[in-house]
Amino acid sequence: MTTLVIAEHDNAQLKGATLNAVAAAAKIGGDVHVLVAGANARAVADQAAAAAGVAKVLLADAAQLADGLAENVAAQVLAVASNYSHILFPATASGKNVAPRVAAKLDVAQISDIIGVESADTFQRPIYAGNAIATVQSADAVKVITVRTTGFDAVAAQGGSAAVEEIAAVADSGLSTFVSREVAKSDRPELAGARVVVSGGRGLGSAENFKILDPLADKLGAALGASRAAVDAGYAPNDWQVGQTGKIVAPQLYVAVGISGAIQHLAGMKDSKVIVAINKDPEAPIFGVADYGLVGDLFQVVPELTGAL
Ligand code: FAD
Repeated sequence: MTTLVIAEHDNAQLKGATLNAVAAAAKIGGDVHVLVAGANARAVADQAAAAAGVAKVLLADAAQLADGLAENVAAQVLAVASNYSHILFPATASGKNVAPRVAAKLDVAQISDIIGVESADTFQRPIYAGNAIATVQSADAVKVITVRTTGFDAVAAQGGSAAVEEIAAVADSGLSTFVSREVAKSDRPELAGARVVVSGGRGLGSAENFKILDPLADKLGAALGASRAAVDAGYAPNDWQVGQTGKIVAPQLYVAVGISGAIQHLAGMKDSKVIVAINKDPEAPIFGVADYGLVGDLFQVVPELTGAL
């Protein structure tokens, strides 16, 4: 029994989500290998080899793998799939793009978004926006799995000394081509992996008012997030959305400001270690999950809190 984890990276840095997927793989048992498919990605392979619990790193290095095109990456995974009992992807946008292609080609049922491993064939995954946890058992010969990264504490980035094996890269599928990439630039931590998140909701009232959260986030070294209502109203950019149809986060500290706590929002943040809610309505459902609740007008409370910090 050997598990293959598909690394997420930008050809220079291994993304943290990979280390969460390695942690899930370790719980399955057996050896853990990591596949790095990229271009000039040797540094990424070396980082993966240093991760705790990794026994071997496969490096497929070629220009056609530079941009993570799902068709090419899926073909690369399929080229080595027969050696593995389990193939794990972080449940990120790119992992969710590649995994179903691999599962379909292998004619197996994908197991999506696992948050727990009971045994080598039995896994836990949230359903109904996190209101219930399903325990699913798979009889497929190869388990193709996406891992909800917040469900598993990342393995240490250092401490391992796996060998890196270069493997032949698959040919370009020719099915898609990379055109361009627009990356949002921010000095703040990446939302999905941030230790602290400050999120704003419709209670902020406008994009201008949303800026009241900046000094608080600065003080806390936090990423900024938002409810869907705030995003839909144009107060915050789309990629800040936290929730069922946004990002799933589980930081050490989540500060929800002017957010009511709709179930679809809770689905994205209720596993945060400490939740602080600021809302003028004492009946707001967010207080049901909050460790610390402050009933008050955010326009008064947030500057006071920032000042006190
Ligand atoms: P509201 O519910 O309008 O709450 C605003 C809060 O601000 C209120 O509690 C109010 O008391 C408080 N407030 C107002 N003024 C002040 C003030 N001055 N001081 C302090 N507090 C104040 N939502 C998400 O967030 N993420 C998702 O991924 C998501 N996915 C969805 C998927 C589906 C299929 C559906 C149907 C809905 C989804 N939603 C999602 C929407 C969700 O149902 C809610 O509509 C949304 O979360 C509400 O956002 P909100 O809490 O900012 O707004």
